[in-house]
Amino acid sequence: MNYESLKAKCYASPGIFYPDNTQNIANIKQTLVYLAGGDYPELSVRESFFPQGVNNRAQNIIVLAIDSVSYKIFHAFHNKLTAVPSVTTALTSTFPSTSVVSWSSIIQGVAPTEHAIYGPVFYHEEFNRVITILRDAIYVTNWDKVPIPNPCQYSLGSPTPTLFEELATLGWTSYFLCDRGLAGAKSWAYRYLAGAKVVANFFDIQCYFDIKRLLAKCLDLTEQVIGQINNSGNLVWTFINLDPLVHETGFTQSDQEYFWSTISLFINRISSHSKPFTIVLLSDHGQITQEVDRECVSKFNELVDNPNLFRLPFGGAGRVRWVYPKSNKVDTVYKLFTSIIGEYGKVMYRADLENSVFFLNLPIPKKTRLGEVVMIATSPRFPSFGHTLRAEHGSASEDEMFVPFLVF
Ligand SMILES: [Zn+2]
Repeated sequence: MNYESLKAKCYASPGIFYPDNTQNIANIKQTLVYLAGGDYPELSVRESFFPQGVNNRAQNIIVLAIDSVSYKIFHAFHNKLTAVPSVTTALTSTFPSTSVVSWSSIIQGVAPTEHAIYGPVFYHEEFNRVITILRDAIYVTNWDKVPIPNPCQYSLGSPTPTLFEELATLGWTSYFLCDRGLAGAKSWAYRYLAGAKVVANFFDIQCYFDIKRLLAKCLDLTEQVIGQINNSGNLVWTFINLDPLVHETGFTQSDQEYFWSTISLFINRISSHSKPFTIVLLSDHGQITQEVDRECVSKFNELVDNPNLFRLPFGGAGRVRWVYPKSNKVDTVYKLFTSIIGEYGKVMYRADLENSVFFLNLPIPKKTRLGEVVMIATSPRFPSFGHTLRAEHGSASEDEMFVPFLVF
């Protein structure tokens, strides 16, 4: 299904597109296993990923795993790319459209209802507290956190084999490079990286905000690694974390141009190698440029800090908020937020969310993680967690929900 048809199929209401169950990032794992010579995914998945068909399986695969590139941004440049993809597909992200949720679905090939990671921040029943995965920490109050004890031994997510583990059963070797940003979240990365050889694990905060340095670092290392590969059956997973840059700047036109031209040059260079590499470019979610309403934000923040209303700090993912009111304040909180947010978002009881198709109509396990009241942005004016940032994500707008899947 092309982008326009997919959008029409997924459209729910202004600012909301539901995830599609076939043309979804959770089907990437099976598709890559198929490219590597493994079992066929369902016909509907194969046809939605490879509308032009696939002639050959791959001998080696390079995955350029880009954090935070929407399909729209690809589409704006697709006519100017000097490297022409053999397959161009738009996929839907997960709900919430945020890194820890989306990458878990990509790497493990399961929906959020299976890994039950509903954002970087959520109530966790084992600790009876709200935790933040990205910091491996437990919230004690709204502002204070303590470290999760033994985060490496404490594995979050699904026991389903990762892409890397599944490729290993086919005799493939997987290399994971380069960025420590997400992989630094130990409780989460323990499952995420299982089965891959971690080649480099840099963390250079300056580099995140400089697209030239970031790409040079990631692509140079990729070329070094593939230079040492002499046989077939290798997957090189290069994680290119544009997330902090896109948050900060909204992804300027000149950075977008630099990004696509550099990626094109890289692909052309690799394609001219004598070693055959299939290159796949994919992304986890996009971001939407915000138009913050300061008055709404200050009313919102005033309410968040009211200790009489909430039993725990807020969870969620940027433009989606999980709210944990005191048991006798659920209706009060629902009404207060409905009046503050107005047309900028949907305020829902958790039961309403369960009856919607945000989670593909699947039963929601560990649903207490979501909170009794939820707020979902439908406008760029929603008071998001990162309201001071130029761009945010987590919700289900076109910019957040649709991502490219390209094969070269
Ligand atoms: Zn991300």
